[in-house]
Amino acid sequence: MKIITDIITEGKGKRVYATENPDEAIVYYKDEAIAFHGLKRGRIIGKGEINNRICEYMFTLLSQQGVPNHFIGRVDERSSLVRRVTIIPVVVKVRNIVAGSLARRTGYPEGTRLNNTVIEYCLKDTELDDPLVNLTHITAMGLATAEEIRAMESMAVRVNDILTEVLREISIELIDFKLEFGRFHGEILVSDEISPDTCRFWDASTHEPLDIDRFRRDLGDVAGAYREVLHRLTGYAYQTNEEEP
Ligand code: 5GP
Repeated sequence: MKIITDIITEGKGKRVYATENPDEAIVYYKDEAIAFHGLKRGRIIGKGEINNRICEYMFTLLSQQGVPNHFIGRVDERSSLVRRVTIIPVVVKVRNIVAGSLARRTGYPEGTRLNNTVIEYCLKDTELDDPLVNLTHITAMGLATAEEIRAMESMAVRVNDILTEVLREISIELIDFKLEFGRFHGEILVSDEISPDTCRFWDASTHEPLDIDRFRRDLGDVAGAYREVLHRLTGYAYQTNEEEP
């Protein structure tokens, strides 16, 4: 039994609680969905429980493959125990196929396969919509050291290779995703979450999004897409009595 104390931080999809152990925290996954700077808000029924299980699957996979991460174990349906890291204020985005802000910024059509994996660094600042920064900004502003950037980049590439392979087997294309990293006793750990809230997953045959873009773009059956990803990954059929609005 972990005694929960204060809320450390609350984001768009999660709440993080301190525990009596200063090295551990509890992540609680919410059903709430927010997009476009909070202009669009909604609830995806079951998202919290589904993302909790998807993150359990993803982080366990990374641990098995030797990628250091914050996950310790799932506590209950909506929460998991993690190492209490200090988040590095740099969001790392990994892209295999053009979508989202890359399409908007460059005019390249969504769905264009990139000749090589693109790694982008953004300042973690919701108010500013996580602006793109380069490596010299990161070191100049003291956000992370050159050594930390190298570690984050090589872990991001490893995560991309591992997830791409696993998802390919269940007919899901990994378009792009964002990662956050945390400092923990001199180590850098993959932290935050890896879920349809933070990745673009397209069905390999229909190219339909199975992720938060369904909510952002009003494509319908958002909860169904989240359930589908969980089911394909783990075989677990999430059920709820609640009806989608
Ligand atoms: P883009 O820069 O194209 O909007 O996003 C690239 C990837 O990072 C996508 O998989 C997207 O879902 C994820 N991403 C970007 N910004 C955020 C954010 O603020 N929150 C979450 N959860 N994911 C994000």
